[in-house]
Amino acid sequence: MRIFISVDIEGVAGVVASEHGRRGNADYELARRLMTDETNAAIAGAAEAGATEIAVADSHGPMTNLIAAEIDPRARLVSGKPRPLSMIQGVRPDDHGVVLIGYHAAAGRRGVLAHTINSRAFSRIDVNGVQASEATLFAGHAAEIGVPLLAASGDDCLARDLADQFPEARAIIVKEALGAAAADSLAPRASCDLIRQEVAAAVSGPRPAARMVTDPPLRVSVRFVTQIQADVAALLPFCDREDSTTVSFEVASYAEAIGVLATFSFAAMGVS
Ligand SMILES: [Zn+2]
Repeated sequence: MRIFISVDIEGVAGVVASEHGRRGNADYELARRLMTDETNAAIAGAAEAGATEIAVADSHGPMTNLIAAEIDPRARLVSGKPRPLSMIQGVRPDDHGVVLIGYHAAAGRRGVLAHTINSRAFSRIDVNGVQASEATLFAGHAAEIGVPLLAASGDDCLARDLADQFPEARAIIVKEALGAAAADSLAPRASCDLIRQEVAAAVSGPRPAARMVTDPPLRVSVRFVTQIQADVAALLPFCDREDSTTVSFEVASYAEAIGVLATFSFAAMGVS
């Protein structure tokens, strides 16, 4: 049984400030250590529940956050970017399920460090009219190749969104949001204990159906932070300009949407 684990940083216990996610400061060095510890807790839980193969995808910012030397050797490590499937790179059709660690609420929703893919590029993403989080998009791709979302850890706002979009997935609440940059959090060691137990329960429990929040084809609407970012995206012939900051396009799959959004994210950083 193979388990795929994607790890972000904003939903990790003890992480509340944007500095925690940005390389080049002491808060980041602390946060990447906490992220690595929660990853190892999820690996341990999956292994205890019978996983014989585990892949971990480092999925925040530069995607080189996890301290590779400290990753539990029972797992393989996918890291670096760009890569075709971004935060879900490495999932396979024969996987038993997906676990998301350190995830967070969508751009435009309440929650600690809420954003979708890139807070400096996107202020909101909708898919077929549904407000999309990273879980919507990346667990959506897993589902389109037949792999269900088993569990996701983060704040209580992530859990609220999961209850709407992936009700069979187990929400692992490691902190309560007090705002965009404030939380009442479990201590990191308690968070790791909870993640280990809950991932083990999710992996050993009944396997849910693979669920997409909305089925392809997908009309993806992207509201950028600045007008010039939308100007750049609208240069592509398959994009429609909706308003000053919004561009939309249609694709046949979540995998295709992920590739276009990653390209938009890189392009937006060149003109912001
Ligand atoms: Zn994220």
